[in-house]
Amino acid sequence: MQPRSLISAQDIAARVAVLGREIAARLPDGALTVVGVLRGAFVFMADLVRAIPRDVRCDFLGVRSYGAATETSGVVQITSDLSLPVAGQHVLLVEDIVDTGLTLRYLLDLLQAQGPASLHVCTLLSKPSRRRVEVPLDFVGFEIPDRFVVGYGLDVDQKYRSLPYVAVVDE
Ligand code: 5GP
Repeated sequence: MQPRSLISAQDIAARVAVLGREIAARLPDGALTVVGVLRGAFVFMADLVRAIPRDVRCDFLGVRSYGAATETSGVVQITSDLSLPVAGQHVLLVEDIVDTGLTLRYLLDLLQAQGPASLHVCTLLSKPSRRRVEVPLDFVGFEIPDRFVVGYGLDVDQKYRSLPYVAVVDE
């Protein structure tokens, strides 16, 4: 399995810069808590928070979804909880990829129950053709076709997370 580049490091950097400015402009004034979904979103989040020209607090949610290796079952286990309270905070949830939408639906319900002042979603990648539940995506880096991708934080069996670009793995 040799990964082939789908989105270059340069294209990702340019898009992240635009997203950062859009997020700063569109989210309500006040303290902003950025919550990254581990582990896939850690690379994207590191670049994204540095592109948002305002003060941010950073927190993380560790999740594991059961199912086949390349597809979620929608049953999500929280492996590491938030360390900061989000009640009354403006929250931006940062995802690596939204596929069926089941994981994000679960996480949005979980966060909403804690009473944030506002809740927005930014995902690096979205596969709209795979969606099984409607989820609000406020900021999307790239829409991609129904291909399994790795790199820039995304893995297959813990490999390829450190690739600086997004790639397709040939079966
Ligand atoms: P969803 O619940 O939207 O179906 O899936 C979300 C999760 O499935 C992502 O956070 C990611 O962990 C995994 N996933 C979905 N599509 C891909 C993909 O193309 N590549 C990788 N590496 N993970 C994916």
